[in-house]
Amino acid sequence: MRLHTFFALATLGLLGAGSLEAGVLNVVATTEDLASIAREVGGDRVQVAALARGYQDPHFVEAKPSFIFTLNKADLLILVGRELEIGWLPPLITQSRNAKIQVGGNGHLDASLTANILEIPQGQLTRAMGDVHPQGNPHYWLDPGNGRRIAQAVQQRLSAMSPGDAATFASRYADFDRRLGEAEKRWDAALAPFKGAKVVTYHRSWPNFCERFGLEVVGYVEPKPGIPPSPAHTIELQAEIKRLGVKVILVEPYFDLKTPNAIGRETGARVLVVSPSVGGEKEITDYIKLFDYDVNLLAQALKTAGGK
Ligand SMILES: [Zn+2]
Repeated sequence: MRLHTFFALATLGLLGAGSLEAGVLNVVATTEDLASIAREVGGDRVQVAALARGYQDPHFVEAKPSFIFTLNKADLLILVGRELEIGWLPPLITQSRNAKIQVGGNGHLDASLTANILEIPQGQLTRAMGDVHPQGNPHYWLDPGNGRRIAQAVQQRLSAMSPGDAATFASRYADFDRRLGEAEKRWDAALAPFKGAKVVTYHRSWPNFCERFGLEVVGYVEPKPGIPPSPAHTIELQAEIKRLGVKVILVEPYFDLKTPNAIGRETGARVLVVSPSVGGEKEITDYIKLFDYDVNLLAQALKTAGGK
């Protein structure tokens, strides 16, 4: 293609997707977890970008102007859904002026639709008192079973978008499924001695993780998801931690440690910063390493604390 023709086509948006390499799909994921799973399935048939970084609170991401440009070029947008991104994503989708990724478009994939969702409110949906989980718990990727379901949804969508690569996506999914299954055996073994252990978490990020690995969440540092700790709630929580003999308080890397540390000093429970996302720590470079990191940290802490 001659240079001036390229620029003319680029200006008109006729190069589509912004992908110059033939057949490579431009995938944008809202989080690094979804991006990692999309890379597992898509391999070199996709180019994947993530919007939020793993060390950021995914409920409250600062929308950068560059996100609009990234979304404008996307063939496929994969989002967590369940209103996790409601505070920042919808205006970006509108401003991207990309018809493909609008709600209902071929390039719009809500990964929660085929996932196992916990804590779905009964009765009327409400954001009463600022609860940021009105559609059920949006941190569902922290169950490897849901990671598998997300991968399957991505495989199906990519295959529909690029039928010539369907066999590649199927075999890459099968390989991911196999490696995830092997890793699950390792994680199960590491946490097996602590089945039934009671934990407190800062935010409600861990119900899927704890259910999957047999841990019991008995309280939260936040009075409600998205609401900062209050003195009255903290006092109640401390009493509960002492009563139940809770050994560990899990804190996501983006929360202030002041209150958890004070609770730890008061109760003797250990404060553990665990990552809910790929990219939350330098060594967590993909979805399987995310669980490697958290499971190892948790198993070590529970072991040191003397079991349950
Ligand atoms: Zn949340």
